[in-house]
Amino acid sequence: MNPFSLVRLSTLSEVSARMAQAPETRRLRAGGIDLIDRLKEGLEAPDELVELRAVAGDDGARMTGLAERKGGWSIGSLVTLAQLASFADFARPFAAIREAAASAATPGIRNAATAGGNLLQRPRCWYYRHVDLICLKKGGAQCFALTGDNRYHAILGGGPSFIVHPSTLALALLAHDASVVVFSPKGERTIAIADLFVPPSVDPSREHALAPGDIMVTIELPPASAAQRSTYLAVKEKQSHDWPLGEVAVRASVTGGKLSGVRVALGHVAPIPWRSGEAEAVLEGQAPSAELFARAAQAALSKAKPLEHNGYKIPLVEGLLRQALHSICEVPLPE
Ligand SMILES: Cc1cc2nc3c(=O)[nH]c(=O)nc-3n(C[C@H](O)[C@H](O)[C@H](O)COP(=O)(O)OP(=O)(O)OC[C@H]3O[C@@H](n4cnc5c(N)ncnc54)[C@H](O)[C@@H]3O)c2cc1C
Repeated sequence: MNPFSLVRLSTLSEVSARMAQAPETRRLRAGGIDLIDRLKEGLEAPDELVELRAVAGDDGARMTGLAERKGGWSIGSLVTLAQLASFADFARPFAAIREAAASAATPGIRNAATAGGNLLQRPRCWYYRHVDLICLKKGGAQCFALTGDNRYHAILGGGPSFIVHPSTLALALLAHDASVVVFSPKGERTIAIADLFVPPSVDPSREHALAPGDIMVTIELPPASAAQRSTYLAVKEKQSHDWPLGEVAVRASVTGGKLSGVRVALGHVAPIPWRSGEAEAVLEGQAPSAELFARAAQAALSKAKPLEHNGYKIPLVEGLLRQALHSICEVPLPE
């Protein structure tokens, strides 16, 4: 790892202005879990790390705060996954947020990893993470996953790169129609979580829409009715510490015996957190039943195009989605 200096600035304006200058020589550090991995792996060698946690005053309070706002929540970008996982005030309407945070990584990592850093971590594809392999994401000519060992790669929305999006929290936030507030030298703006992530068909070299000097300040969860339910489920090879093989987050309300406001998000199947319009169309306005959930699960994966080694993800994610729908609608699972 190359030597670097650590810079501590106390205002967002100073951090943002510094990050906008010669951005290839600097990196912003939140919890540092992904960033330090990238430095140790030799993927990046910045001269300087700018410590986001040094920001003080009102902006520091916003970035570390968790505040109720008109029935929704404002989550500071520096709130840790451990804080989210144990936040008892996230009542049943927001359960998926707590469950996703509790599922990511290990207890030790969750104590340091921040919500903002989790959303903006880089992919774990073993070809991308190998310093000697110049894959498509690093300016090379091809995505090695297309013909290589692609057991963990995308089955939906892939091409020209077949990475899967790594953030567990992103999936739950997508199911909740969350947005992020971003500070830049030009002022603050709000980006819907669905627009934060950039598919490889648009630009294979990056995963999100933030530019140098953009700092994520908060994540905003819109208000929910008391009838809303959500949940997050994942399957991993090692339950104790691993990225998922497949994951789902669902949100819906059941009022008058019918489903409404349905959101279905699928993870570790696509280069971006994947919203399934097909499943939502099957479910919206219908009465919950095992038969309906089975049809929705089939619809969710109907456009999947597995690579040579990852066809197992189709039944895995279908099963997870059915289980999640049974859970939030309190319909017993069939024997
Ligand atoms: C063994 C292991 C298992 C794991 N399992 C999972 C898992 O199951 N699910 C999962 O989601 N993750 C998993 N992770 C990844 C881990 O959760 C992430 O690395 C961590 O959440 C990143 O957060 P951080 O605060 O440390 O980010 P950092 O490493 O500090 O930052 C990540 C990136 O985001 C940028 N950044 C951070 N904050 C901001 C901000 N506010 N504004 C603008 N840019 C910012 C940084 O510059 C950097 O490029 C695992 C990690 C390990 C080691």
